[in-house]
Amino acid sequence: MSTTEQGEIVESSQIAAQWARIRSRLQTEVGEVEYRTWLHQMTLGAVDGDEVTVHLPTRFLRDWVSSRYGTRMNALWHHENQSIRRVDIRVGGPVEACMPSVSADPVPLPQPDVPAPPRGLSIVTLDNAPEDRPDARSDLAAALDSRFTFDAFVVGKPNEFAYACARRVAEEPASQGFNPLFLYGGVGLGKTHLMHAIAWELAARSEAAGKRPVSVAYMSAEKFMYRFIAAIRSQSTMEFKEQLRSVDVLMVDDLQFLIGKDNTQEEFFHTFNYLVEAGKQIVISSDKSPSALDGLEDRLRTRLGCGMVADLHTTTYELRISILETKAARAGVPVPPKVLEYLAHKITSNVRELEGALNRLIAHANLFGRAITLEATHEVLHDLLKAHDRRISIEEIQKKVAEHYGIRLTDMSSARRARQVARPRQVAMYLAKQLTSRSLPEIGRKFGNRDHTTVMHAVSRVNELMERDGSFAEDVELLRRLLES
Ligand code: ADP
Ligand code: MG
Repeated sequence: MSTTEQGEIVESSQIAAQWARIRSRLQTEVGEVEYRTWLHQMTLGAVDGDEVTVHLPTRFLRDWVSSRYGTRMNALWHHENQSIRRVDIRVGGPVEACMPSVSADPVPLPQPDVPAPPRGLSIVTLDNAPEDRPDARSDLAAALDSRFTFDAFVVGKPNEFAYACARRVAEEPASQGFNPLFLYGGVGLGKTHLMHAIAWELAARSEAAGKRPVSVAYMSAEKFMYRFIAAIRSQSTMEFKEQLRSVDVLMVDDLQFLIGKDNTQEEFFHTFNYLVEAGKQIVISSDKSPSALDGLEDRLRTRLGCGMVADLHTTTYELRISILETKAARAGVPVPPKVLEYLAHKITSNVRELEGALNRLIAHANLFGRAITLEATHEVLHDLLKAHDRRISIEEIQKKVAEHYGIRLTDMSSARRARQVARPRQVAMYLAKQLTSRSLPEIGRKFGNRDHTTVMHAVSRVNELMERDGSFAEDVELLRRLLES
């Protein structure tokens, strides 16, 4: 090996190490979820003089990453390697794993998984006799909720990326880098809504352009499986396959249902490949990202992650407020801001529940012809809100407060009286009183067996300080919100 070669090898391994550090630094800075969504597909290109090239698989992703993280990446690179002054983010890079394998062999038909019949779902109602289902469209129309449109979707930080991706797919189906579109996130955060919205938008666009209607098959993974099984039973698997393979867009909702259903996965995998190769769009939703879906066949998992993976984060207070405002305005019912704030504060789990609470309030107001007030809200939503009062423990409070003020957890119960530990301790006692239903003596005991009068004093002291000192009050409020979220 010549010296130059060695020199180059040393250099490229150094660059690789720098790149690895930059990636992990970014990952820490932006958080795992954001990193997975936007940055994990980055690959390192050439280093040329003072410029380094980073690749992303699509233009969309490239634009997104350069506008949001470009400056930071420049800084990180320069910090790692003084000679680098510019990071060029480009479209391209390895996508090999994502190429569908072309196989000329007929696909062997897998045998169905034998499932326990699911609750409330009978195979009979999902009968897929071809004469009942002339095409995927009639199926589609029945399954789509007309309220789930892009217009009705309220966009905020937690869902803007998923929304942008969904829109993009609706505007330009099967475009490079967006196939499949994989949407994931917790329950009630808008996955199904976005999928339906894509279908509506596609339909509207083809109609406006005077083109033939787009055929979209939308179904839950569960339904996919039962269809498949029913087809095998009625020996109409060919029709089933043809039906699926004739659509322009295939949407499978709640894919996590296919976990452990190996044969259905197999069938899905072949349909998936067939459609992608034929230039058709696939949209999938799931409660987890492809990489976190344990129990999915590896090759399927790889395929699923090959297009665009976009997650719906849990809602923020701001998003909840704007969803409530939008929905109240749509219902044409005046709801005082205080009530909206109260709901957004109390119901943090998901949009479905938030919407449910608002609907209940509106229905109640209509029924009794009464205005919606904070008082009426307490009354109407009493049971619902009680369930949402998350139990916060004193230990949790102590931990968060200690972390926040940078003191040791043990100081929460120690005898030390220095101001820098005594004040945070008082704040923790105050929050324990506010956020839990514990009595003063109980709280005292958790703080190193202090007397209940000490707790009482802490509470009034913190109240006093909050009135006098705005930034202290803000601090306490922040802690409260952190604990409540
Ligand atoms: P998921 O499929 O993720 O469980 P859904 O799409 O069924 O959730 O959403 C649950 C409910 O919340 C639906 O009624 C939907 O319209 C509503 N929803 C969710 N996110 C939003 C949003 N950003 N804007 C408006 N409505 C939303
Ligand atoms: Mg859903």
